[in-house]
Amino acid sequence: MSNLAAIDDATLYAFLDAKWGGNSCEVCGVKEWSLGRTADMPWAAVPLVNAQNHMSSAYWAVVPVMCGNCGNTKHLYTGAVEAWAATTEGKSAIEELRKLQLNV
Ligand SMILES: [Zn+2]
Repeated sequence: MSNLAAIDDATLYAFLDAKWGGNSCEVCGVKEWSLGRTADMPWAAVPLVNAQNHMSSAYWAVVPVMCGNCGNTKHLYTGAVEAWAATTEGKSAIEELRKLQLNV
């Protein structure tokens, strides 16, 4: 969780394209994924519980990804996104998506 601010929408959508491909929602079969975040609230936290069943101060940083048709919601772990974004494949895919967005 080094630089969450660097995980912008282009990075997240490039990651989803690379890893989820064109997969539809497994609940309703519709392809209508959207990111559940805003500029002010760019990610969510999943609190972790320790071995004594107490809430710890540790958490996973995630970005909600929601189906726009049925509301099925998943949590995208930002650590996986960051690791992928640092690879040659990730950098290339993010750059390509940013070029496409500029041409819209
Ligand atoms: Zn759905």
